[in-house]
Amino acid sequence: MLSGALPAFEGSLHYIDDEGSGLRGVIAVHSTALGPAAGGCRFWQYESNDAMVADAIRLARGMSYKNALAGLPFGGGKSVLQHPGGDFDREALFRAFGEAIESLGGKYITAEDVGTTVEDMKTVRKQTSYVAGLETAPGMAGGDPSPWTALGVFLSMQEAARISLGSDLKGLTVAVQGVGNVGAGLCRLLVDAGAKLIIADVNSSRVDALAKELGADVMGTDEILGAQVEILAPCALGAVINDRTVPQLKARLVCGGANNQLATEEDGFALQQRGIAYAPDYLVNAGGIINVAAEYLHETTDEVRERVGRIPERLREVLLLAAQNGQPTHRVADAIAERIISGSRAEVA
Ligand code: NAD
Repeated sequence: MLSGALPAFEGSLHYIDDEGSGLRGVIAVHSTALGPAAGGCRFWQYESNDAMVADAIRLARGMSYKNALAGLPFGGGKSVLQHPGGDFDREALFRAFGEAIESLGGKYITAEDVGTTVEDMKTVRKQTSYVAGLETAPGMAGGDPSPWTALGVFLSMQEAARISLGSDLKGLTVAVQGVGNVGAGLCRLLVDAGAKLIIADVNSSRVDALAKELGADVMGTDEILGAQVEILAPCALGAVINDRTVPQLKARLVCGGANNQLATEEDGFALQQRGIAYAPDYLVNAGGIINVAAEYLHETTDEVRERVGRIPERLREVLLLAAQNGQPTHRVADAIAERIISGSRAEVA
């Protein structure tokens, strides 16, 4: 993923180098000000050690902000493990990872992320209790987080459309890039709300099946970014909002589930200059971590629903403050998160 020089990091890095299993990785703890650092485990083949550590740093900081804005009693962290490629003993590897987490004594709590599964977390659980993303009893939080992520994005889109477009979703057209777990869930909620859909995915059988189910139009995966729609919902990859795509956008609102949608800080300013409202990704896609956190705290699905239902209130605060102060929304969201983490809820000027 990322490469180049290591970014500055205000947290702590815990390196893992386990000879027995061959596990190499790093646990990045960005902040424990609000509680133990919570964030998933990414298992990926990195081109270098620095690339791996840089990714962990960026992701851990993002988790601090996401957890703070979601009102969770958790700080931010992330673990990143180097995928060894070829044949390897997965059980031994994730047991070693569990031991590394246990050695931190509860400073960091893990769950699934790109490349890891419920089975992996079950293996981790054999070595430590500081893990979520396992199966739970009916009525209790846990299981697949993506429906909660989709719900949070949908509720946020409703709120942002009211504030920024002066309209509810009925009759608006939404372009959804990526119709995997989050994107498809979002599409179903949008159709129920009376929105029209244009969808795209690199997986053609997936996109065709969903188009048939929901009566959606299909477009190419790049072309969809410039579609003549009111709302764009990136639900696949990061960095889709960049200096190449911003000039093409016809949507007046960007609100989707993908992480790290802005390629750079400047792209947030570019959206603002074009008068396109941006619902910060880590704010609106927090439904998944809300579900994971609730599982860890042994809470019910009703409590998850209640907390996901509060995401639009926070978004409203961000959109209104941004308009009032003439700032881009991503900067306002970052500032609120930083103030929550530092224990001050003073007004963002
Ligand atoms: P997923 O793997 O189920 O779906 C991603 C979809 O995007 C797939 O259908 C894939 O084929 C498609 N895709 C990949 N490249 C594409 C491209 N260039 N153009 C169009 N489609 C493309 O993943 P997901 O769980 O739905 O997550 C989607 C995004 O949301 C990711 O960025 C993820 O980090 C983020 N996210 C997910 C959750 C969650 O609860 N699953 C929570 C927070 C954030």
